[in-house]
Amino acid sequence: MGKYAFSIGHHAVRSTVKETVIANIPSLTTYVLGFIILSYVGILFGILYLSFIVLALVLFLRYVCTYCPSYGGGRCPSGYGTIASKLFKRRDISQFQRMFKTYIPFLSLVWIYPLLGSLFLLFTDFSWFFLALTLSFVIVGFVILPLFHKYYECKDCPNKQNCPWAK
Ligand code: SF4
Repeated sequence: MGKYAFSIGHHAVRSTVKETVIANIPSLTTYVLGFIILSYVGILFGILYLSFIVLALVLFLRYVCTYCPSYGGGRCPSGYGTIASKLFKRRDISQFQRMFKTYIPFLSLVWIYPLLGSLFLLFTDFSWFFLALTLSFVIVGFVILPLFHKYYECKDCPNKQNCPWAK
């Protein structure tokens, strides 16, 4: 089955709708702040950023969630595993960690693009508003989001020892 300590029949608690909604708030806030920042650079950049988010999420479902033990069955805290099971077939869970690590550089662009946009705005058209927007993005995306994953979303996940995101 794979080298991990549990199989696809592990005893993860099924997530409720409320928990799933809460689990998505920090990442959605990160995307919205990123979109606002890049829209100030130019609306086309904002739209491209949203398009990139959609692409990154679909690829995440296909190339990460399909390898995850929480694929399907309502076990995934964020609900992605359930969506992935509707779109793509399950893959070999022993490859989960390798697939996730391979995907991280691509996923990191979700944070890098708004940071580049922020730097551009601050250097070319500084305002306290842009500075506050940048700090909001940094606090939500680099502080609240990882803490949230560690202490809320992923805290009961039986896969957290193998998941680069939960560390
Ligand atoms: S726990 Fe993470 S990798 Fe696994 S299905 Fe959910 S979102 Fe995807």
